[in-house]
Amino acid sequence: MGSVSGSCNACGATGTALMKLSLGKDFFGRTYDRLSPSTDQSPKWYCEGCSMQKNLQRDFRDILGEFDKLVAGQGSTLSSQEEFQRASLRLRELSAILGGAAGQSSFLTAADVTQLMGRMQTAAVRT
Ligand SMILES: [Zn+2]
Repeated sequence: MGSVSGSCNACGATGTALMKLSLGKDFFGRTYDRLSPSTDQSPKWYCEGCSMQKNLQRDFRDILGEFDKLVAGQGSTLSSQEEFQRASLRLRELSAILGGAAGQSSFLTAADVTQLMGRMQTAAVRT
């Protein structure tokens, strides 16, 4: 039979095209493999909808991680005004997508995004 016999690792959908989660670059252009080579040994497969959601979650995590470093006074990509701006815009995008009808996600909620946007706004005012 066909080689695609599995189901989506997130929603369990079968009989649909599955995509292997790409370990390409993160939101800030860094490669993932360098940091976590082990993740590629157990690749996950997602249907189209879930892989889109996974990408949103990935961007959110990248931004959250850098923001936490920023507020902790550690070196952060977000200390660059330009990157901070770009991250803020991306969060606004995520919020809009998650707020839409097609944006229901089991990985990330609009509330998470709104909260981070609020924290970033506060930080931006302070600096
Ligand atoms: Zn799925």
